[in-house]
Amino acid sequence: MTVTLTNKKWTLSARPETSVSKEHFNLETETVRELVDGEFLVKNQYLAFEPAQRGWLNDVRSYLPPVAIGEVMRSGAAGEVIASKHSDYQVGDLVQGSFGWQEYAISDGTGLFPVTKIPAGIPISYPLHIFGLTGLTAYFGLLDLGLPKAGETVLISGAAGATGSTVGQIAKLLGCRVIGIAGGEAKCQWLIDELGYDAVIDYKSDSVGERLQELCKNSVDLFFDNVGGEILDHALVNMANNGRIVLCGGISSGYQVKELPPGPKNYMQLVIRRCHMEGFIVLDYVDRYPEAREQLMQWVDEGKILVKEHILEGIEQCPEALAGLFSGQNFGKQLVKI
Ligand code: NAP
Repeated sequence: MTVTLTNKKWTLSARPETSVSKEHFNLETETVRELVDGEFLVKNQYLAFEPAQRGWLNDVRSYLPPVAIGEVMRSGAAGEVIASKHSDYQVGDLVQGSFGWQEYAISDGTGLFPVTKIPAGIPISYPLHIFGLTGLTAYFGLLDLGLPKAGETVLISGAAGATGSTVGQIAKLLGCRVIGIAGGEAKCQWLIDELGYDAVIDYKSDSVGERLQELCKNSVDLFFDNVGGEILDHALVNMANNGRIVLCGGISSGYQVKELPPGPKNYMQLVIRRCHMEGFIVLDYVDRYPEAREQLMQWVDEGKILVKEHILEGIEQCPEALAGLFSGQNFGKQLVKI
């Protein structure tokens, strides 16, 4: 007997000009079609949410093509193979891939982010963050571009987020002095009490400029920036000579393109203090993912890196989960559990 499955999926209905919300997507229902040879069917269990997804909605030149109107919203997902006509994927395999905001996905194993099998013994959601793009971004951005050394002062914006909190923990493991900038008392307290940050700045209630002067005047050796805007400007005036600025993201722009934020006013500090400022995209490190994953797995296994997840339940929550990243609703890696 063939069981008929019904899939719920979110498709893009309109491009947001400013903030993203539910109005930009349609929740559609369809019958899951039969597989053809070379395909397998995945029942998604977790969907991953990244600020970059907002950027993929803009019809502009970027490192990936924009999501098309009518297309299932692109996202990483982890789930179980429940039917297969592909020789490499068997029923019961746990896999992750770019399966999108939907309950069931048909795949042939290829795509923008090729499907990989999830090894036994790790939580199925971890390849969507600490052992996936989030952890890899922290690892390569900090170690390859930031080149931290023991005793140096490392400043991190977006410090309590999924990427920022991993960066801070790795920097602490290397013997750096770590200062985090994050929004709200609970997140700041967590950074100090549980992750061992040396100091924090709550950008929602503190004066960032004044606190930076108190904590690390002219002595930031490495600034790992997830936020951009005013926070980048404040950091620029506190860099040490020969400091490094790693541009990981600029979430304060909302990744909208209608009104671009002003460029950094204090960029001449790069000249005066002989600093280096460089951006990167984690996808460029794909050949070195295995090395980084192995190290991250070891650190997590040894309890040296703590992982926090922020889980909303139900496919209906997807637009809210994405929008919430831009107001700091997430405390840990934003996931939707299906
Ligand atoms: P996340 O940090 O877990 O979530 C986003 C956080 O950004 C929110 O929780 C919020 O924390 C903070 N935020 C939102 N609006 C803000 C604003 N206006 N000013 C200051 N902080 C704000 O997300 P993530 O996935 O780990 O991504 C973090 C950064 O890494 C993003 O900039 C993302 O684009 C970037 N990234 C880059 C790459 C790459 O290859 N270059 C890859 C992945 C991610 P608060 O509560 O503290 O405000």
